[in-house]
Amino acid sequence: METLKKCSSCKDKKLPTEFHACKTAKDGLYTRCKACTKIQAADYYQANKTKLNEQNKWRRYMSKDNIARRKARKEVKAFYEQSKEANKKYYEQKKEARKIANKKHYEKRCLIKSKKSVAFHAVNHAVKSGSLIRPTVCPVCSAEAFNVAYQKDYTKPLEVKWMCIECYKSICGK
Ligand SMILES: [Zn+2]
Ligand SMILES: [Zn+2]
Repeated sequence: METLKKCSSCKDKKLPTEFHACKTAKDGLYTRCKACTKIQAADYYQANKTKLNEQNKWRRYMSKDNIARRKARKEVKAFYEQSKEANKKYYEQKKEARKIANKKHYEKRCLIKSKKSVAFHAVNHAVKSGSLIRPTVCPVCSAEAFNVAYQKDYTKPLEVKWMCIECYKSICGK
């Protein structure tokens, strides 16, 4: 015959099977019987219902929030990586285009410069050889001055319009 164990809560003497196992207890059983433990648990739940609910709610909210936050962070990162890649491509393209444009611009400038200088020397040569005469009076403003040759078309360097430096400045804006 099994010995009965007295419950510390309801003071009833019950079979050991009516108690939950407890590893730390001397006899390997809880001091409260199963029924009392159940009641106690229910009481505890009732008493702390709101608190527990709030805790659970908060825990759920936090985990949900974490997932949302992680997802958002992932999306932002992906977007950033994507835009970084796109920007890189865009700048590479831009760089290439700018290089070409600069080269074209430089070549054009060089061409104009060389044309200008060739035309300038042609006029100087013509003046020295006497085929072109530099007037001493400006044909534009009739002032007595040193006249320069205004070349409208550098491919026809000897088709010049003589004028004083003041008139040249006002026409060319230089
Ligand atoms: Zn009991
Ligand atoms: Zn003049």
